[in-house]
Amino acid sequence: MANGSIVEQRGSTPVHGNFIAGAWRAGKTGETYENRNPANPSELIGHFAASGADDVGAAVSAAEEAATSWGAISAFARANILYKASEILASRVSEVGRDLSREEGKTLKEGIGETTRAVQILRYFAGEIQQPIGEHYPSVSPTTFLFTLREPIGVCGIITPWNFPIAIPAWKIVPAIAFGNTVVFKPASMTPLCAVHLTEALAEAGLPTGVLNLVTGGASAVGDPLVRDDRVLAVSFTGSDAVGNGIKKLAGERGAKVQLELGGKNPAIVLADANLDHAVTQVINGAMMSSGQKCTATSRAIVDRRVVAEVTQRLAEKVGALRMGDPLDDATQIGPLVSAEAAERVTGEIDRARSEGVALVAGGSAADGHNGGHFVTPTLFGDVDPGSRLGQEELFGPVLGVITVDDVDEAIAVANKVRYGLSASIFTRDIGQAMEFVQKIQAGIVHVNSETAGAEPHVPFGGYKGSSSYSREQGKAAREFYTQVKTVYLDPPPSA
Ligand code: NAP
Repeated sequence: MANGSIVEQRGSTPVHGNFIAGAWRAGKTGETYENRNPANPSELIGHFAASGADDVGAAVSAAEEAATSWGAISAFARANILYKASEILASRVSEVGRDLSREEGKTLKEGIGETTRAVQILRYFAGEIQQPIGEHYPSVSPTTFLFTLREPIGVCGIITPWNFPIAIPAWKIVPAIAFGNTVVFKPASMTPLCAVHLTEALAEAGLPTGVLNLVTGGASAVGDPLVRDDRVLAVSFTGSDAVGNGIKKLAGERGAKVQLELGGKNPAIVLADANLDHAVTQVINGAMMSSGQKCTATSRAIVDRRVVAEVTQRLAEKVGALRMGDPLDDATQIGPLVSAEAAERVTGEIDRARSEGVALVAGGSAADGHNGGHFVTPTLFGDVDPGSRLGQEELFGPVLGVITVDDVDEAIAVANKVRYGLSASIFTRDIGQAMEFVQKIQAGIVHVNSETAGAEPHVPFGGYKGSSSYSREQGKAAREFYTQVKTVYLDPPPSA
C-alpha cells in the first residue's frame, strides 16, 4: 500500500479516508468505524470513514465535474492509465491478497487469486477499449454515411458486496472508467480495505481528479443518498435480492440506468454415468470454497437415485476432511464466515433444517477453538425436499443439500424450480444428456463437468430469472451497460 489513504494514525492503527476529487480526506461526519479480522476479531485492521450524505454529495459533484473531460480524452490515454494501474496492483498482489484474506476471511490462496483477477480485469479493459466502438450500416440514401457510436453515460454509482471485495469492484469500476464514465464507489462496509487498495492503484496510475471517488460507510448513510442522487445516471449493484430490488425501484423511478447482480441457489446435477471421483471433488469445491459465500456456490447436489448413496457417502467423507482454520495458514481450506451475524444466521438455518427433520449427514455442529472467529463447520444434508427452505433459499454459507431424482429430466426440472438462475453444473459422460441440460437449464452460467463457481473475466457474467436484471457484466457485455448508442446520419452538404 502506498499509505496515501491514511488520514490519521490512531495508536498503531491507521484511519483511512475517502478519496474525493483526487485527494484522500477524512469523512465530513468526523466519525469512523472499525474493520476487524473475522478469523480473529481481536485483530483490528483499520478505522474507516463512516461517511454521510455530504461526502456522497461532494463525491458526486467531483465525478460530475470530471465527466466531460474524461469522456473526451482518447481511449488510448485511458488504456495507458489502466495498464499502469494493473502493473501497480500486480506488484502488490501478495500484500493485497493478504489484506483481502484478513478482512473477508477467505484463504490466502483465494485472496491472492482474486487480486490477480482484478489485475487481469484492468489489463482486459485496457485492450477492450481499443476495439471498435460503433457499426457502419448501409443507408437507403446512397450518399448517407450511416453509423453508430458508443458514448459514456456520465456519473456511475457502483455499490458492491463483501464476498469478492476486489474482483467485483474491479469488474464494475474498470469498464465504467474505461468507457469514459466517472464513478462514485460505495464498497461493502465490511471490506473497505480492498476498496482502498484498488482506488490507490488507479489514483497512482494517474487517473485525473474526480474520475474515481471512493466513499466508505453504511448502507443508509452512503448507499441510499448515492442511489437517490439525480446526477448519478447509472447504478450498478451486486448484492442481495431485497436490497437490489429496492435500489432498482428508487433509481429506476428517477430514470437512471440500473444493473443488478443478485443471489443464486445453484445446482450441480450428478448423473449415474458420471466420473464420480471428479464430480464429488468439483461439487465440494463449488459448495465449500470461500466458506460457501460465493453467489455461484453450489448449494444443491441433485443426484441420480442409482448413485445417490455412494455420492452422499463420498461427499460426507470430503466434507469431514476439510481443514478449517486461520485463512493465512497454507494448510487451511475453509476460513470463517465474514461476520458474527453471518455465522449466526447460517447456524440458525442449519438448526432449523435439523429441527424440521432433514437428515444431517456431516458437520452441523458449532465451530469453536479458532480465536473467537466466525466459523461454521462445513455441513452436508441428505434427502433434501426440493421445495423446502433448504432446497429453495440461498444460505450463503458452507452448507450443501443432496436431492434425489430418477433421471436427467427430473434433475433439470428440479434444478429450474427455484426463483434464481445464476449458475448450474452437470456431471455426465453422455454428450446427449449434457446437451439437453445446456438447452433446458435456466441459468446464465452453465458448466458441463466442472463446478458451478468457475467464471473467467473476459466472458459475460450474470444470471437468469431472479439472479440478475437481464444485463451482463464483464467481457464485451460490460460495454452494453457502461455506454449509450448514438446513431449518426452523415450527409455531404449540397454541392450548389
Ligand atoms: P447486501 O447486503 O445486499 O449489500 C450489498 C451492498 O449494498 C453493500 O455495499 C451494502 O452496504 C449496500 N447496501 C445495502 N443496503 C443498501 C441500500 N438500501 N441502499 C444502497 N446500498 C445498500 O449484500 P451482501 O450481504 O454484501 O452480499 C451478499 C449477496 O450478494 C448474496 O445474496 C450474494 O448472492 C450476492 N452476490 C451476487 C453476485 C452476482 O454477481 N450475482 C456476486 C456476489 C454476491 P453495507 O455493506 O454498508 O451494508
